[in-house]
Amino acid sequence: MLRPLIAGNWKMNTTISQGVELVMRLRELTRGAEDIDIVIAPPYTSIYHLRFLLAGSPIKLAAQNLYIEKNGAYTGEVSAEMLRDVGCEYAIIGHSERRRYFNETDETVNKKIFASLRANLKPVVCVGETLDERKDNKTLGVVKRQIKGALKGLGPGMVKDLVLAYEPVWAIGTGINATPEQAEEVHNRLRDLLCEEYGMVANDLRIIYGGSVKPENIDELMAQPNIDGALVGGASLNADDFARIARFKKSPKGRS
Ligand code: PEP
Repeated sequence: MLRPLIAGNWKMNTTISQGVELVMRLRELTRGAEDIDIVIAPPYTSIYHLRFLLAGSPIKLAAQNLYIEKNGAYTGEVSAEMLRDVGCEYAIIGHSERRRYFNETDETVNKKIFASLRANLKPVVCVGETLDERKDNKTLGVVKRQIKGALKGLGPGMVKDLVLAYEPVWAIGTGINATPEQAEEVHNRLRDLLCEEYGMVANDLRIIYGGSVKPENIDELMAQPNIDGALVGGASLNADDFARIARFKKSPKGRS
């Protein structure tokens, strides 16, 4: 079993004081959770402050996005190097909200992965199909295309530092999660695809699931052989719920 990763994406929520309150409670509730990677992605404005509160806790910081250049005249943007400097260890890349509202494409996602690795940030690369695509039986084709585009030009040595997040768009923020079987089917196919392209390294790459993860469904999801963690939106804003997700019930699992 790979070391599980539970990541919370706070999106455009929380003031600094709200973030502090959330982190203080989370620290308390996750004390001693050493066999798992717990990551939170607060808004940029809170990261610097929260890094000091997280010192000595198992919780790591992620950015929700980044820009591809190191520095320069790109008003409003933040580089991977700046995010590393402020304390981030991970960066979420290609979230469906970025694709939908900010026109991100597989090509921009690819550039952001390179930027992220350049700065020693671990990319959490999101892929997933819309409801129409699922209804049209296009799920596997869509995620395959997204992966191929996102990972273009990356060798096995770079791919090993990635985390892949399968996030069906229809499950994000809707309260309707993919069933564990639906998610496992996609994760399994993604793992096969990565094995074909990159060899054994793909077996060590974490593929996490995102889309309406909550305390009520995490145990079943995590019992699937190819689900190595979760990317959590809404429920990560509630410390008790997020901590319960991070303390999911472990059950033995073996991949075929
Ligand atoms: C997300 O935005 O990545 C997400 C999974 O959101 P939610 O958990 O709210 O569905």
